[in-house]
Amino acid sequence: MKKWVYLFDEVAKAEKYTGSWEDVRALLGGKGAGLFDMTRAGVPVPPGFTITTEACNEFRKTGKFPAGLWDQALAAMKTVEKQTGKKFGKAKNPLLVSCRSGAKFSMPGMMNTILNIGLNDEVVEGISRLTNNPRFAWDSYRRLIEMFGETVFNVDDEAFEEPMADYKEKMGYKVDTDMTAEDWKELTSIFKEVFKKHVGFDFPQDVYKQLELAIKAVFESWNGRRAVAYRNKEGISHDLGTAVNIVTMVFGNMGEDSGTGVAFTRDPSTGEKKMMGDYLLNAQGEDVVAGIRNADPIEKLESQMPKAYKQFMDITSKLEKHYKDMQDVEFTIERGKLWMLQTRSGKRTAKSAVKVAVDMANEGLITKEQAVLRVTPDNVDALLHPQFDEEAMRNAENSGTFFARGVNASPGAAVGQVYFDADTAEKMAKEEKQDTIMVRPFTKPDDVHGMIASKGVLTSEGGATSHAAVVARQFGIPCVVGASAIKINLEKRVMMVGEAVVKEGEWISVDGTTGKVFLGKMPTTSPSLEEQTELLTLLNWADEICARKDVREAPAKGWPTRGLQVWANADYPKDAQRARSYGAVGIGLCRTEHMFFEPERLPIVQDMILSEMSEGRTAALNKLLPYQRKDFDGLFEAMDGYPVIIRLIDPPLHEFMPDEEKLLEEVITLRVKGESDGLKEKEELLSAIKGMHESNPMMGLRGVRLSISMPEIVEMQVRAIFEAAADCTLRGIIVKPEVMIPLTGTVKELEWIQPRLERIAAAVMDEKQVQFEYKFGTMIEITRAAVTAAEVAGHAQFFSFGTNDLTQMTYGYSRDDAERNFLITYQEQGILETNPFQTIDRGGVGKLMDWAITEGRKTRPNLEVGICGEHGGDPSSIEWCHIIGNNYVSCSPFRVPIARLAAAHSALKHRPQKKTNKANGRASKTKQKTAKQK
Ligand code: PEP
Ligand code: MG
Repeated sequence: MKKWVYLFDEVAKAEKYTGSWEDVRALLGGKGAGLFDMTRAGVPVPPGFTITTEACNEFRKTGKFPAGLWDQALAAMKTVEKQTGKKFGKAKNPLLVSCRSGAKFSMPGMMNTILNIGLNDEVVEGISRLTNNPRFAWDSYRRLIEMFGETVFNVDDEAFEEPMADYKEKMGYKVDTDMTAEDWKELTSIFKEVFKKHVGFDFPQDVYKQLELAIKAVFESWNGRRAVAYRNKEGISHDLGTAVNIVTMVFGNMGEDSGTGVAFTRDPSTGEKKMMGDYLLNAQGEDVVAGIRNADPIEKLESQMPKAYKQFMDITSKLEKHYKDMQDVEFTIERGKLWMLQTRSGKRTAKSAVKVAVDMANEGLITKEQAVLRVTPDNVDALLHPQFDEEAMRNAENSGTFFARGVNASPGAAVGQVYFDADTAEKMAKEEKQDTIMVRPFTKPDDVHGMIASKGVLTSEGGATSHAAVVARQFGIPCVVGASAIKINLEKRVMMVGEAVVKEGEWISVDGTTGKVFLGKMPTTSPSLEEQTELLTLLNWADEICARKDVREAPAKGWPTRGLQVWANADYPKDAQRARSYGAVGIGLCRTEHMFFEPERLPIVQDMILSEMSEGRTAALNKLLPYQRKDFDGLFEAMDGYPVIIRLIDPPLHEFMPDEEKLLEEVITLRVKGESDGLKEKEELLSAIKGMHESNPMMGLRGVRLSISMPEIVEMQVRAIFEAAADCTLRGIIVKPEVMIPLTGTVKELEWIQPRLERIAAAVMDEKQVQFEYKFGTMIEITRAAVTAAEVAGHAQFFSFGTNDLTQMTYGYSRDDAERNFLITYQEQGILETNPFQTIDRGGVGKLMDWAITEGRKTRPNLEVGICGEHGGDPSSIEWCHIIGNNYVSCSPFRVPIARLAAAHSALKHRPQKKTNKANGRASKTKQKTAKQK
């Protein structure tokens, strides 16, 4: 016969049956496992037993108890009677029990609990006599009838609450404590009638019937609406089922020498090492939770019940040491005797998570590795970006100020006044000192000034790698993109979702962490890294883990054996400085074209583009060179001693030109008005722009193709890089420039361009008479480059995966339009598990990366490999980069701390297994991947 029931002292049997503690938790539920574990540790736990989740799952299939369950439960009740010396249903010395749900993962308040089972008309008199406390006895009985009606038979709580309120009013009572024993007795009769009226029969006097019904109700509550919704939100499987814990009732309401409370062994919101809790004397558990009476802080118990307090402090300290984590405990003191009813890992804020982890490591309770693993990348994220208060958000959603939802492109909370173009957003921010939110259908490079000036950015189109998303992340600006429900009317200067209209200048709140947008202002809090000493400590430990030279197994010579380094994507010296202060040890991508958009440079860039002859282009480029040299000089200086990867120009040239439609409008206006002033120049410009038109510019004349068509631009850039590097070297700065050629599709492109550029590099070093380390490499962002990586590595000294484009090219999804058009539907329909522009698609794009590294290192064993697409800051993608052998990941400066932690998590999670045979290096890597992909 299968064992469905385990007594609290039968933990060894449960372990034998399941084989591991994790599976004991699955079988007996988290709460049950805690009670078993506490019993084993000698903590005073009221005797009881647990009915397994397996029994619940059988019951859910058939609607009946599985064979043997009830007999086992009866036998267990007999044992509990022996252990307590009390008898269930007997008035002389009655045993009362609670029936509590408890799933593998905590689902607080989502399922049913019934207390005081075992009370009936006779037993209540017995308890009255025995305790000499009739008030307590009748109060307990009326509670049972009410709870039974509500939880077992779904009677509305108002059916009980109303007559109770009426009764109190009639008697002139204000609070429950005004009620006497007679009053509770009277109310018990009233409740019995309510029960009969709603349920159709009398409240069961047979205590075993009570027990049976209660167990069934707890089983059924697994599929209650609240529980299902909670599991959906938390991603908990619906198949696990709940265990049922039958626990001897102990009473905190037996007089002034009794009490009950809840406590955390450390502060769950700050992490401070201080017991935090509340208790009430002469009360039952739910009184503390429900907040009916004002509870006292736990410290006060010391003076009221010194012995129980000391025992409580000793036990909780032991529990914390035993579980090596902050505990959330429930306790009851019955006539001076302390009972522990529950212990579990306490839920905590991000701040508390970091402090508790670091403190516990410093106390020697856990290792630094465990501390690092205890904190999630989301915790770090939460600590570094201004956030909206969770309760304020919930309230806002309930009060109808929710406006729209889009892709959570750049985390953090922003509150500001809406402006629909970059110039106005910047003007209002700078001149009027307003907090602004720039709202656009999508953004372009010439919107950047408006974005930088704004507190937040909102677009109705675009996805996680759209221009708005990339730039916002880089600058740490909270940003929501692709909120497609929003209709923006740029002429009328309004945006709408259904009836809700936001006019220019009105306030909105944008939450880049969740992708939600709210009407009006919501309060925010703003943290800083330097002030967060515990977080800094934790991140240093994370770096130490990654720096160990044995955390990765090298399949061949040249492969990294350390963990991932974290570099940053930064275009300007101030971003590089920030990245460095956040812990970046290199620049993985400097997008040089952003520098062309500065107001004094753009006209020169446009002249250069419009020059038909190479000489004209060179003349314009000569004017740009000093600007670029200065930019690079600043970057090298900021990153003294660290590598800096500078990418040569990438976007199609039309991006630097005025907007075609706007120009056409101007030409037409001049023609209509018959004005000739400036008309010819505008017409020529328009024709030049038309000439550049491409149907599919992302697949057009950009990247290395542009460099081959117009080598003068990249020749100028390489000269500027090497002149700046040489100047810095002469000033004593250690430079490590790495020149990156974008969008390579065939090695022939590198064969064509790279030697020309290398000659310039050599010439500059010769002119300046200095030598320094440098590299030439390429981005891998076209599928063909990945597939032919062995050839490409013949020329490239490093690869950097441009996974924004690589994902676009591999899936054939437009990185700018996919989210808006179909990607969110694909996720909702389960066609895609995650957004491939946010998290690397391991099965496709990820495989290409894996292949490219393996092939590339066959040609060049010490090939340096990184990633600079938006995925470089995503924890799951970082894990993948660790597995396949990247040397580093590069992400926006604000994501560097998150990436450092995620890199350490990857290193710890995939620590090499002890070798069983010599040839298993590569094999173990394959195993790790398969395990993760499941
Ligand atoms: C990429 O494609 O991943 C990349 C980093 O380049 P960009 O986003 O500038 O195209
Ligand atoms: Mg790219």
